[in-house]
Amino acid sequence: MMIVMKANATQSEVEEVVHRAVKHNVQVHISQGEERTIIGLLGDVRTFPQHEFLQLPTVDRIVPISRPFKIASREIHPEDSVVPLDGIQFGGPEVVIIAGPCSVENRTQLIETALAVKEAGAHILRGGAFKPRTSPYSFQGLGEEGLEILAEAREITGLAVVTEVMAPEQVDLVARYADMLQVGARSMQNYNLLHAVGESQKPVLLKRGLSASINELLMAGEYILSHGNEKVVLCERGIRTFETATRNTTDINAIPVLKELTHLPVILDPSHSTGHWQYVTAIARAAIAAGADGLMVEVHIDPAEALSDGAQSLKPERFAELVAQVKAITEAIGRRLVSKEINLPVQD
Ligand code: PEP
Ligand code: MN
Repeated sequence: MMIVMKANATQSEVEEVVHRAVKHNVQVHISQGEERTIIGLLGDVRTFPQHEFLQLPTVDRIVPISRPFKIASREIHPEDSVVPLDGIQFGGPEVVIIAGPCSVENRTQLIETALAVKEAGAHILRGGAFKPRTSPYSFQGLGEEGLEILAEAREITGLAVVTEVMAPEQVDLVARYADMLQVGARSMQNYNLLHAVGESQKPVLLKRGLSASINELLMAGEYILSHGNEKVVLCERGIRTFETATRNTTDINAIPVLKELTHLPVILDPSHSTGHWQYVTAIARAAIAAGADGLMVEVHIDPAEALSDGAQSLKPERFAELVAQVKAITEAIGRRLVSKEINLPVQD
């Protein structure tokens, strides 16, 4: 349920209503919009004395939140949320491109790929140090050494870094090196992990589970939001279907559906969505045309030798073509790519 304040309510009038509301065994979430403030009431609201609040002169109305996800819902937060990351904004007019290898394999591979994706126009660097692999015999990632290499790549290129965290006890370690924490598809319903990243101050990139519905993705996001971290970016990465021609099936529908249901930024990963480099650029274009706020693309300097996901990784030259094509789409729909100049960090 939510209390919609009158348009002219002052901050102290909002505080007064919040003060009264918390006495009734509910948690509150304040959403300050451009026009009016909405106070979300979370928890068991069955006995909440609505009539008492409706009599207050500053309260406009009280309405139920129809969705099971509350803080993530557009009902409570009608305007788009913007998630800032190192001078870049997810969810604003600018489209963000994250790129880099599936895994950090060694220093040379990562640094060369980072320089190449920056040159081609990427805004943020990706690379896995802790890898969730289907087989226990596959390369599992370099762990902390991989994080150190990512941090060095940030020093060299000025690109912020996103990398996966697989377990709650890894959150502090990964957050020391990374600018954004990735929760992978296989972890989307690891509620302890969602809780832990919810307590972190870092932005979170939450990937849709392999067989998760849009509702389940939003409920996973709600876990993070409800633990105090509102910097959540959702990522569509393809879902399981009967189709075997591609690794997953890109759920392009998810983009407008999510944009309607939630105020959170939504990006798409065309690499895991398709599983084949040949299809990555087409699906990247489609995602931006459908309204995605960004992309996460796997790029490798030598895909044939990649230790993970080589078949879906673009060579840097092909990634540069993707950026050029995506740029044209952004302009066609009245958006633009991130315009921030990414300079080398100031050395002291
Ligand atoms: C990844 O981004 O490298 C990854 C493992 O993706 P997903 O969790 O979507 O499978
Ligand atoms: Mn991968």
